[in-house]
Amino acid sequence: MIQPLAPEHVRAIAPYQPGKPIEELAREFDLDPAGIIKLASNENPLGCSGRVRGALSQAAGSLQGRYPDPNGFDLKAALAAHHGVPPAWITLGNGSNDLLELASLALLDEGTSAVYAAHAFTVYRLSTQARGARHIQVPARDYGHDLPAMLGAIADDTRLVFIANPNNPTGTHVPPAQVRTFLDAVRDRHGDRVTVLLDEAYDDYLDPDERVDSARWVEEYPNLIVTRTFSKAYGLAGLRVGYALAQPALTDLLNRVRQPFNVNALAQLAARVALADTDFLARTYALNRDGRSQLQDAFAALGLDYVPSHSNFVLVEVGDAARVHRELLRRGIIVRPVAGDGLPQHLRVTIGLPQENTRFIQALTDILQP
Ligand SMILES: *Cc1c(COP(=O)(O)O)cnc(C)c1O
Repeated sequence: MIQPLAPEHVRAIAPYQPGKPIEELAREFDLDPAGIIKLASNENPLGCSGRVRGALSQAAGSLQGRYPDPNGFDLKAALAAHHGVPPAWITLGNGSNDLLELASLALLDEGTSAVYAAHAFTVYRLSTQARGARHIQVPARDYGHDLPAMLGAIADDTRLVFIANPNNPTGTHVPPAQVRTFLDAVRDRHGDRVTVLLDEAYDDYLDPDERVDSARWVEEYPNLIVTRTFSKAYGLAGLRVGYALAQPALTDLLNRVRQPFNVNALAQLAARVALADTDFLARTYALNRDGRSQLQDAFAALGLDYVPSHSNFVLVEVGDAARVHRELLRRGIIVRPVAGDGLPQHLRVTIGLPQENTRFIQALTDILQP
């Protein structure tokens, strides 16, 4: 096989392992796709809002052969009103993954480094490696971000710190006061040389009293980027829309490296409609809260350790996770192995509909207590 010439740091990248698609499992095990349940990618088990579906079918009928609005005027206006920031503080992304890439493109280079936590979202490592930057991975504390240790790990060449709050795949959450202490300390010690990216993909699943007004934080900290996504609670994972909030200087940098048409027209429309459907979001939140208790109670009853979740999935310790994963697949249930995140004994289970959770718990019980 010919090995094309590529930089060493690109060859070193271990590819992202996505949750297995339903169709793929159906082919592999000769199963009926209709009977398969997927609790592997933290998608919304309710799908998306009916209002989004309606708006999309209408829009499909009048699709033009035009490029989407490169500046996302309408969606940015809606987001600006939602967060109380000027539109010039918003960057749209093809999923929030895109924004993580844009931040690393804008800020990292060979000879620089990025800091992130062990067991944090894999894309932090991938996008750091893709730039040829050095990655500084800080050991976790109780599965979560150890912010004092991360502060201490910032080096002279560090330009970017990634924090997922809540974190994926562990479901841990750092209380806002601690994040603030960290942000203050980073500015005291490093001024604006170090940018902090606060990834709030799962913010909508937090209890109301755990949430913060991130836009106010962005006002206060010129070195802060907050990212959000429509993929999780809003149910638009298939359409790929996310956004970043940051002051104009940082936003300008992100937009210099952004592809002009990175968010497609249907996605921009869907996100705008989804943002307005607060009933759907409330139903999503309530369903998730109840499903989380259902799963965590079942794990406790089975004597399994789990990490109390602040998100729409639960990390549970099952022992030989590779075997349990395989046995679940045979039963038509897809969950997420996390050995690649340094957690070979755990599985990450997305919270599904009540009946999906029940089927998963039943299958897990059969596998562990035959
Ligand atoms: C799912 C996820 C994202 C991004 O997902 P997109 O679909 O690209 O918006 C970002 N950060 C974390 C921690 C996630 O789990």
